[in-house]
Amino acid sequence: MKKIALEEHFTTPVLSAYAHGPGSSMNRQGFGQFEPRLLEFGDMRLEAMDKAGINLAVLSVTSPGVQAEPDAQLAVRRAREANDGLARVIADHPTRYAGFAHLPLQDANAAADELTRCVKDLGFKGAMINGHTNGHYLDEAMYHPFWERVQDLGVPVYLHPRDPFDRPHVYQGHPELLGATWSWTVETASHALRLVFGGVFDRFPKVTLILGHMGETLPYLLWRLDSRTRIQARLGGGKEPGRLPSEVIRSNIVVTTTGVCAHPALICALSALGEDSVLFSVDYPYEDCSVAAEFIESAPISDATRAKVCHGNAERLLRL
Ligand code: MN
Repeated sequence: MKKIALEEHFTTPVLSAYAHGPGSSMNRQGFGQFEPRLLEFGDMRLEAMDKAGINLAVLSVTSPGVQAEPDAQLAVRRAREANDGLARVIADHPTRYAGFAHLPLQDANAAADELTRCVKDLGFKGAMINGHTNGHYLDEAMYHPFWERVQDLGVPVYLHPRDPFDRPHVYQGHPELLGATWSWTVETASHALRLVFGGVFDRFPKVTLILGHMGETLPYLLWRLDSRTRIQARLGGGKEPGRLPSEVIRSNIVVTTTGVCAHPALICALSALGEDSVLFSVDYPYEDCSVAAEFIESAPISDATRAKVCHGNAERLLRL
C-alpha cells in the first residue's frame, strides 16, 4: 500500500554538532552510526523507501538542531540555511520528498516569519519542533504570536523529542533510561500536556499538533487524565474544567506510528483518538523502513483504516 512518512530526519555538517553536544544522551560514537544516512538524500534513502513502499517522506532536521544554539541570531541564520538546503533537495526529488521547517524558537517572531517563508515561498508542509528551546516550552506566553501564525497558515506542527533541560534525579545510575528508551517520552508527553493544560488549543483551536511514537503514551492515558483533572479541580475548590484533556487531545493532536511497531499500541491509538488521527511514519534512519512497513501491512485493521493510516490522513493534514 502507498505510504507517506512524516518523521524522517536529515542533518547537515553544520547542524550535526548539536546532536551530540553537551548534555545530549547521544554521544559522538552513537550518533556517528546514523550520520552517513542523515547526510544523504540519494540512493541509500530512496532504496530504503522503495523497499518499504514509501512514496513520499516529509524531511526534518534531526533533534535538536538550532534549538540548542544559545545565540538567537546564529539560530535564525542557521535555520534559514537548513531550510534553503532542504528546499534544494526537494527540488531535485519533488515527488519523493517534502519538508517540515526548522525554526529558531529562541525568537518567537523570527520563528513565525521563517515558518511563513518556508510554507509560502518554499512549499513546506508545516514545522518540526524538537522539544524545548534552551528550557523554554511552547505554552509560554512568548509563543502566542508563533501559534497565531501557525493557525493562520493552517499547517501542522510536529513536536519531536529532545533531552530534558535538566536531568531528573530518578535517572541517576540508570543511563539506559535516558534518550529514546524512556526520558524522551516523559519529556515530550509532558511538553504536549503543558500545551493542553496551558490552554494553547483553547486560544488557537485550529492548531494541529503531531506527536510521534504512537502519541508518547497519551492515547493510553486519556481516561486517567480526565479523571484526575476533575478530581484535582474539585479538591482545589475550583470549577469543573471546561474541555477535558481527552477532548482537547482528540480535537487538536494526531499521532504517528514512529518507533512503536506494535499492534496493541496501534489499536489503542486508533481506538482512543479515532482512525483519522493516526498516521504511518518511520523515524528514518533511527528505525528501519521495512520493519515499519511490515508492521502496518500486517496490522489487524480494515484496509479502509489502513489506507487512512498509510496515506489518507497525511494527504488531508498536509494538503497534498
Ligand atoms: Mn525522530
